[in-house]
Parts: sequence; structure tokens; C-alpha cells
Amino acid sequence: MTKNGTGSFSLPFLVVVLAVAASPARAQQQLHYERPVEAAPQAEDIGAGYVVPVVQHYPARTQWREVTDVAVLAAALAVGTWLALRRRSRTGLVLLAIGCLAYFGFYRQGCVCPIGAIQNVTAALVYPQYAIPYVVVAIFLLPLVCAVLFGRIFCGGVCPLGAIQELVLLKPLRVPVRLDKTLGWLKWVYLGLAVWFVVRPAAKPDFIICRYDPFVGFFRFTGPLNILLLGAGLLVLAVFIGRPYCRFLCPYGGLLSLLSRISWRGVTVTPDKELDCGLCAEACPYGAIENLRATRPACLACARCFRHCPRHRVQTTGGQAPPATP
Ligand code: SF4
Ligand code: SF4
Repeated sequence: MTKNGTGSFSLPFLVVVLAVAASPARAQQQLHYERPVEAAPQAEDIGAGYVVPVVQHYPARTQWREVTDVAVLAAALAVGTWLALRRRSRTGLVLLAIGCLAYFGFYRQGCVCPIGAIQNVTAALVYPQYAIPYVVVAIFLLPLVCAVLFGRIFCGGVCPLGAIQELVLLKPLRVPVRLDKTLGWLKWVYLGLAVWFVVRPAAKPDFIICRYDPFVGFFRFTGPLNILLLGAGLLVLAVFIGRPYCRFLCPYGGLLSLLSRISWRGVTVTPDKELDCGLCAEACPYGAIENLRATRPACLACARCFRHCPRHRVQTTGGQAPPATP
């Protein structure tokens, strides 16, 4: 993908371009905020008792807090990788997802997140004057790098949008394969629209991914009614259909699925020898098991299938089946 949608570029190229594009941002962030109040019309110029408002702006997060966000993300990805690929623990991944939902969702209020960062990165690539902070670059790239190495670990236990859907999935129904694949194209349409709304000429960039984020209103306990209703509807659907936003709409999920195709390691239903009994395919609510093997682009590293694998039970309990985790 390039800024105009043709050709291709490599990850190292993206890193270099973003590093150059972000340099002015760091310089800008180090300047103290100043508003040339004296240049604006004053109360006496305006008359009629007009009161000039006090200069207001959101205090910038201190640098150590920004670094903390990146460090927490990196640590969560590392722990998620260990839990999914080495420890093979569904319980551990659920606990990680709850922790990340609390931190990135409710504490950080869903911002900054790599899904919305797609549009910041696009803007930085297209507009030389657009300043993108290093922290946004890092948060955009870290899950992608992790996907190249280990698959969609970010989706499995780190992403708050994935976590909130994962936790409400109680009665999973199977989506017919053809419908699943057809709906899966929607996320590419959404990705294309998101890029277009940034690069379209003669119009200000419109960050539609953030504007229509269906769950951020829950994280902030406020938001437009239509978006809150959209999020509520998706959560109700997610009780029966595994992660509808992830599978059918999330544009960043599309990027992660692309990169996980070439991942160095990935989820395997059993640690070594498959039994081919088919229990895992029944247990996967995301249609990610084909021909009795987890497919890397679709596998969300949730570890549900591990709990249903007879070999996993033998290895972890010495033959006693553990209680099923929803
Ligand atoms: S598909 Fe998107 S929303 Fe779902 S867990 Fe992955 S990044 Fe998050
Ligand atoms: S194959 Fe399905 S159940 Fe197993 S980890 Fe992947 S998404 Fe979860």
C-alpha cells in the first residue's frame, strides 16, 4: 500500500518515512503553548459587553506517560505471546484482555489506539506538514511487528475493542463460511474509505475510524447517541456472533491478517501432534480453523480451541479435563 493506493512499500521503508515525518512533531511538542491573545480582537474592540474567554487547552500528557503507554503495549504483547504460544493459557489471555481493557480502554479512554492511527499515519505520509508524534507511530507499528513474528497476538489479549467483544461472547453461533468470507470484505472497504477520507483533495482530512469507533463511547461514558447505539447493537450481536467488529469491520484487523500470513510463528491447536478429531473446529467461534488447522490470517489467538483439545488436557492436567472456559 502506498499513499495513493498503488504499488507497495516495505515495513522498514514505512519506519524511515514515519521517522522523518515525525521529526517536526517532536520539535513542536517541546515548544510551550502560546496563544497570541493580543492579536485577536479584544473585548473593547468587540463591544456589547463581550467577554474574551480564558485560553483553554488540554494539558499535554507528560512524556513519561506517553512512554508508559508504549511500554505497557510492548509488555502486553510480550505477555500475550508467551500466554498464547508458550503457556497456551486461555485463562491467562482472558486476564490479560481484562487488564488491557481496563488500561487502554477505560483508563486511556480508547486513545491513542493503532486502529485510529491508520489515518494519522496516512496523513503523515501524504501531507509533509502533518506532524505525527513518535508515540502514535510506535503504537501503530508494534502490533504489526508482533503479527509478523507471532500472528494476531494484539487481537488475542491486548486490543480493548477485541476484549470487550470477547468477554460478552456467551452463546457462539456458527456463521456460514460463505457469509463469513463475504462480510469479511467490508473491512477492506472501510480501510479504503478511511484512507480516502484523509487523502481526498480539496477537503479537510476526516478521521472516520475514530468518529465511528463503536466502543469508545463506553470507555468514556459519553458520546453521540447514534454511536452508542451502534456499539450497543454490536455488543448484543457479539453475544452470539464472535467479535463482529473484528471479523467484518476492523480495518486494522485487515492489516494484521495480511501480515500474519507471513508470521514466523503462530497459534497451533496442539503443541505438537494433531489428533484431527475436529473438536477444535467446533470450539472456534471465529471460523479460523480450516481443514482442522488454525489459519493464521483469521486466528485471533484467543486460545479457546486449546481448552477443547484432548492433547492439551492431557498435557496440562495429566488426563483430567479442565472446566470449560467460555
Ligand atoms: S480485529 Fe481490530 S478491533 Fe478486533 S482485536 Fe484486532 S485490532 Fe482490535
Ligand atoms: S483457532 Fe479459533 S479458537 Fe483457536 S486460538 Fe485461533 S481464533 Fe481462537
